[in-house]
Amino acid sequence: MQETSASIEIVPLPAFSDNYLWLIHDGKHALIVDPGDAEVVESALKTRNLQLDAILLTHHHADHTDGAASLQQHWQCPVYAPDSDQKAYEALQARRVKAGDHIEFEHFRALSCEILGLPGHTLDHIAYYIGHRHLFSGDVLFGAGCGRLFEGTPSQMYASLQTIATLPEETLIYPAHEYTAHNIAFARTIEPGNAQLKQRAHDAASLRAQHLPTLPTDLRLELATNPFLRCEEISRHPEFKGRHAIDIFTELRSRRNDF
Ligand SMILES: [Zn+2]
Repeated sequence: MQETSASIEIVPLPAFSDNYLWLIHDGKHALIVDPGDAEVVESALKTRNLQLDAILLTHHHADHTDGAASLQQHWQCPVYAPDSDQKAYEALQARRVKAGDHIEFEHFRALSCEILGLPGHTLDHIAYYIGHRHLFSGDVLFGAGCGRLFEGTPSQMYASLQTIATLPEETLIYPAHEYTAHNIAFARTIEPGNAQLKQRAHDAASLRAQHLPTLPTDLRLELATNPFLRCEEISRHPEFKGRHAIDIFTELRSRRNDF
């Protein structure tokens, strides 16, 4: 599946068992988000005859960063990474970016790129919001779900998801893993009466049966079906009535760990 906006194309490169490395290109030049596997990226660049201009890292986990050194060495391109003291970034001499920063890419001057700070999965997690439309959310927001809390607190993750929720509803979201179908199955245990969720289960199953990605997703669909963005709505359901959204979020994340 490919997504086109203005003159760019955004392509998911499958890697490992369920990662997507997102390739952004204009037919000549390319950016890669979270290249956990350099071979996968090199092969995609070669097939499309593209030059790699920059590497964008959302957080320090190996399945997002392990291919960066080899790609950087081959293409002599900059690496952008969160402003933290992770060894992975130091070895890459990465350009550190933080919430509120704007970066510019030489061959993609028309594309704005703003950094969002989204701690929770890791403390240093950031997202790249490109062209006021495309959000590369790493391991924070998934289709119908959210990332595990490896380093941050539930309050941090909840606040990060709320930051995403303030973006325009048309925002296209590009998570780093294909977890949608399993997340939907979990979400249906929380909101069995949600008709859009039922439809989404059908749509996701159909895509996966054809070995197609369920991603990107968009914020409108997530607001309607992702329980981690729906804690206020869920607080009106009989099972959770009267509880605070953050308390519900904490319980949902904990239940999802065992699902
Ligand atoms: Zn991760």
